[in-house]
Amino acid sequence: MFDYNEQVKNAISWSKISCLFVLGFGAGILGVHFWNLYGSDSLGAPETIDREVRFEPQNQESSLEDNFPNVLPPDSTLNSALRELGVSPQLIHQIVEAARPVMDLGRLRAGTRFQLIFSSNSSNDLVGVHFYFSPIEQLMVNKKTDSWQAEKITEAVDIKVRTFSGVVESSLWESALDAKMDPNLISELSEVFAWQIDFSREVRENDRWRISVEQKWVRGSPVGWGSILAAEYETAEQRYAAILFESPEGERGYYAPDGTSLKKMFLKSPLRFGRISSRFTTKRFHPILQVNRPHLGVDYAAPIGTPIRAIGDGVISEAGWRGSAGNMIRLRHNSIYMTAYKHLSRFAKGIRKGSRVAQGQVIGYVGTTGLSSGPHLHFEFYQSGRFVDPLGRKFPSADPIPPALMGQFQIQIKNLMSSLPSWDAVKVGSSGGDSTTL
Ligand SMILES: [Zn+2]
Repeated sequence: MFDYNEQVKNAISWSKISCLFVLGFGAGILGVHFWNLYGSDSLGAPETIDREVRFEPQNQESSLEDNFPNVLPPDSTLNSALRELGVSPQLIHQIVEAARPVMDLGRLRAGTRFQLIFSSNSSNDLVGVHFYFSPIEQLMVNKKTDSWQAEKITEAVDIKVRTFSGVVESSLWESALDAKMDPNLISELSEVFAWQIDFSREVRENDRWRISVEQKWVRGSPVGWGSILAAEYETAEQRYAAILFESPEGERGYYAPDGTSLKKMFLKSPLRFGRISSRFTTKRFHPILQVNRPHLGVDYAAPIGTPIRAIGDGVISEAGWRGSAGNMIRLRHNSIYMTAYKHLSRFAKGIRKGSRVAQGQVIGYVGTTGLSSGPHLHFEFYQSGRFVDPLGRKFPSADPIPPALMGQFQIQIKNLMSSLPSWDAVKVGSSGGDSTTL
C-alpha cells in the first residue's frame, strides 16, 4: 500500500491538475467557487511539506477574514500594500529580507491574505506580519528583539477516503451536483478516463459512475482533495475501471484491472523523417512578417509531399483552407489534447471534418501553402485549449504494469475497488459520501 505521508506530498502537487470547464453550463462559475473552497493550495505556496508544525491554538470560531483581515490587492505588491498601511520602507525591507530564505515576498499573488500584529503597548509598533496561503500553509514573520525572523507553518494533513456515485440525467456535471460532490472532481474523473471516453461528447443519459478519492483534512476540517484512488464509469455498452498504482520508483498512474495503462502515448513526431527547423518559443523574429512573433508550434522542414501522420487516435475537427495556415488539419484526440498541422500541400484520402483517424495514419502531406517561407510542416499541440511545446512535454508512461509488480497490483485492485460505493447507493440518487480513515 501507499506510504501516506508520501502520498500527501504527491496529492498536493497532483491536485493542481488544471480544472477543465468543458463540462457545461455554469461550470466556470461553480468551478471558481469550489476552487476557492477546496483548492486553496493553488495560491502559490511551496508544494512540499518540509516539516509539520501545529499552529498556535486559536479560536476555532473565528473566521479567516477575522484572522487575516488584509488582502493583497490585484496589480499590487506587498511593498505597496504595506506602504499603504503605513509601514515604513525600512521596516518592509527588514520583513522581506527576513522572509527571503523561506519565501520571496516580492512575488506574492494578488488575493493573499495577511495580518499585521502590533505590540500590545503601542498600536504603532508593528511586531509581526502573518501570511495565509492555504489551510495547510502559513508564514509568520515576527520581530524578535531587534531582528525579524520568518517561520513557515505547515499543518499536519490527515487523509480520509471519500466516495461518491451518480447517474447521468442531464449532464455529468449535474450528476455530480446531485451526488453533492465537488464538481472539480468531475474534471479529475474526466482526466482519469480521458483516453477512454470523450466526456464532452459521449456522455449519455443513464451512464453511471462511482469514485473513491482522498480528502485532505487539517485540524478537523476538510481543506481539499488528493488523488482519485479508484473509479468506474459505465455506459450502456462499456464499463471502464481505473485503479491508481504507484511504482516502486514513485511513478503513479491509472490502470485498467488487467494492468494496462489508461494513457496512450503520442507518437514523438508527426513526420517519420524530417528535421526540426524551428522550435516552440514565445518570442521569435518572423522571417516573412519581419517582426517579433511567438512561434507556438514546431516546424519540421521536409520535402513537399512527405506524409504527415496523426500523432494519436482522434477525430478530425477541421480540414481545409485557413488563411495564413494554408491547408490545415485540426485533430481532436480527446477532451484535453488537440493537435494542428499547417501549410499542407494536400489532404490524405478520406480526411475531412468528422473523420476518425488512428495513431500513425497518414492524414496529409507537407507543403508550403499559406504564409510559409518554404516546404515545412508547422505542428501545434494544445492541452486544454492552450498551446504547449510538444517537444518539452513529458507524457506519463503508457507502459502496462510490469509482470513483477502484478501481484502487488492485484492487491491494490482488491483494496481500491472494494473502497468504491456500491451501485445500490446510486439507485437512490445520492452519494455514499462516507468518510473512512485509512
Ligand atoms: Zn511554424
